[in-house]
Amino acid sequence: MTDVDPATETFVEQWRDHAYSCFSSGHKFCRNVCPVMGVTQDENHSPTAFHANVVAMEQGLVSLEDVARDYVHCTQCGACETRCPNTLMAGDFYRHRTRTVDLVRAVRALAVDNGIEQPGWKQWVDATVAVRSEPVLDVPVEQERVADWADGLDLPVGGGTILFVDCEAAFYRTSLPRAVARILQAGGVEFGLMREQWCCGGPAREMGYVDRAREFAEHNLADWHDSGVERVITLDPHDYVSFTEDYVEYFGDDYDIEIVHVTELVAELVREGRLELPVPIPAVATYHDPCRLNKRRGIHESPREILRAIPGLEFRDVDHVTQWSYCSGAGGGLAIERPDLTDAISSQRLERAAALEVDTLVSACVWSERPLSKAGADRGIEVRDLMELVAEAAGVSDDPPRPGGATPGPAGDGSAPEGGPA
Ligand code: SF4
Repeated sequence: MTDVDPATETFVEQWRDHAYSCFSSGHKFCRNVCPVMGVTQDENHSPTAFHANVVAMEQGLVSLEDVARDYVHCTQCGACETRCPNTLMAGDFYRHRTRTVDLVRAVRALAVDNGIEQPGWKQWVDATVAVRSEPVLDVPVEQERVADWADGLDLPVGGGTILFVDCEAAFYRTSLPRAVARILQAGGVEFGLMREQWCCGGPAREMGYVDRAREFAEHNLADWHDSGVERVITLDPHDYVSFTEDYVEYFGDDYDIEIVHVTELVAELVREGRLELPVPIPAVATYHDPCRLNKRRGIHESPREILRAIPGLEFRDVDHVTQWSYCSGAGGGLAIERPDLTDAISSQRLERAAALEVDTLVSACVWSERPLSKAGADRGIEVRDLMELVAEAAGVSDDPPRPGGATPGPAGDGSAPEGGPA
């Protein structure tokens, strides 16, 4: 290497083999499934370019400063990894998987460490640190109100199993955690709430603020341990991937918490007859595979099993492999730095739903539902959360008021940038 600073040299040393593995293969299949490439058609936003930059850094041809902004253009959906021939051919036998998501995260972290920050992300993370939850748009965010969504549900604090409610659902889409709580109660699942729930830290980690992310994780794990928690139920795929990947990396053998995504648990309740769905839902629906469930963690059967169990609902499926290229564009901080691209990606997703002649698009990711709903409104397609449908079919849904009086405008102190999270 020539003329490269020590931090970049260490980074290149760590990533050079991965980068050459991609650079030398020369295929272009990853571009076909990348949601960002699908709307920008800009080679600088391709998974290949993300790897080739490492090779160029090693050769001293580009600097971190030259390319850092390009790495904003990734939702961390994992599609390129699943479609990569290096994953497909070596995956089964050698357990190999191309690691574009980790590479993007590593470049973003290196950039932050070198003082190269994206303004929207910095503002978002600073606001999250200030109030311990993300600066959810359109509602005031205060730590004291993180469990207000559960008013009247009579849920205990702590216990062996708790429900972790992500920031968007806790402060804005409160109908979702209420639906989940009602479903779990109807299914006989005993659970409580955290004593003091902070953001999972995943968004900060995705934007490159690793130390900040870890502070959130350390608080949450300590809270779980102090209140006897052994199992955490998540309703948000972003939390699920943070708890099953980031926390494992942070805490190693000290991490002894079972993490369950609610679709897996509810499918089990329905399958075992512990939750009945007697109320018909007259809808023609298709399902949106959240990236972090399908492509990142391989969860695609349980939501389909649930949808097929809802009476009156005609389910027009698009299989989970076809959906490798589908995305809402809300992930990886893209919606904060490039809301225009999030809108374009969501619009493309709704075009695919419209081609099936459905009236409903069902999602299992609360963060995807704002941009998808915006795009759905233009096409007469309603975007519903899977758990809200289940609560309706089980006859246990309620209709709480929106939190914070649904105050319009930015959240918290008004300094939050436009866009979504993680
Ligand atoms: S993770 Fe998704 S958005 Fe990022 S480069 Fe791969 S396919 Fe594109």
